[in-house]
Amino acid sequence: MKKRVLITGAAGFLGSHLCDRFIKEGFHVIGMDNLITGSLDNIEHLMPLEHFEFHHHDVSNFVHVSGNLDYILHFASPASPIDYLKIPIQTLKVGSLGTHNLLGLARVKQARMIIASTSEVYGDPLVHPQTEEYYGNVNPVGPRGVYDEAKRFQEAMTMAYHTYHGVETRIVRIFNTYGPRMRLNDGRVLPAFIGQALRGEDLTVFGDGSQTRSFCYVDDQVDGIFRLLMSDYPQPVNIGNPDEITISQFAEEIIKLTGTDQKVVYKPLPKDDPMQRQPNITKAKEILGWEPKVSREEGLKITYEYFKSLPQEKLFKKEH
Ligand code: NAD
Ligand code: UDP
Repeated sequence: MKKRVLITGAAGFLGSHLCDRFIKEGFHVIGMDNLITGSLDNIEHLMPLEHFEFHHHDVSNFVHVSGNLDYILHFASPASPIDYLKIPIQTLKVGSLGTHNLLGLARVKQARMIIASTSEVYGDPLVHPQTEEYYGNVNPVGPRGVYDEAKRFQEAMTMAYHTYHGVETRIVRIFNTYGPRMRLNDGRVLPAFIGQALRGEDLTVFGDGSQTRSFCYVDDQVDGIFRLLMSDYPQPVNIGNPDEITISQFAEEIIKLTGTDQKVVYKPLPKDDPMQRQPNITKAKEILGWEPKVSREEGLKITYEYFKSLPQEKLFKKEH
């Protein structure tokens, strides 16, 4: 009998890559998604498989799955600042009510559950690089609060189910991850820059571009998540690539990669945009034997090829 895994957010960027990984590992995969920011295109290759099933469902409402479950991965949530600003209440609900529903399901099914937390729990961090011990610097009533606080609540609820109900839980704090299947117009910096380069538009750097991020390639991220789920460690673990870069330097890298003649234009920095972000991954190294393997140069090349292969209508589809 194959082990059975439920993956929420399955039609999204990370969720679809996780479905691929679990299918490859020989699991029966149940993907669940309400398609609010995801697309069936990301999992259409899995649909014909005997050991993949798709359930169209909003996990902020009661979640029912028949049969046993061994693992639950709760990855449903809008993830780009533009998305969660457009649908703030749904974002709060999927992090809170959705997490509660899935923890209840995990308890009934005696399944182990991992939640997709985020570096955003550290807010605009005053400690650098960020270790798991840092409590963060989050503005609860700022524009990003709907996402950050939902994720912080999600962690608290998960730990409560672990402590009080004995549910086996894992918490991954994901740092900026990129790769094929990101939505070209989701507003995140990598698809934004590559989309602009492909359309022949100038690259929009917000603020003076001195803010930093550390970008992790999706295959590395998925491997870290898989290892954490299979480990016996219930405390939060950062998974990300510590290779830190300013957003200005990143724009220059994209200009070089795409060979575009476009230049950089500066736009106002969104409120509460974190000024620096870099994961400390000592725990992931020590506990999971994990560290990223794919360099930014390599990962960006693969991702650029993916975006180039998309049909023109996707490239010019305006969402915001
Ligand atoms: P994504 O937008 O591509 O995927 C999210 C998926 O969740 C979408 O398919 C969406 O339709 C689905 N979804 C949203 N609300 C739902 C609901 N109520 N019920 C059912 N499905 C719902 O985003 P992503 O980048 O793949 O992010 C996946 C998860 O990882 C999110 O929880 C996000 O917070 C977390 N995360 C991602 C990153 C990153 O860099 N990609 C960083 C930190 C955390
Ligand atoms: N950013 C930018 N231009 C864009 C989109 C984003 O300069 O067109 C900046 C944004 O202000 C932030 C960084 O890039 O400082 C990363 O933004 P993203 O939305 O990808 O992720 P997050 O802020 O959640 O890390």
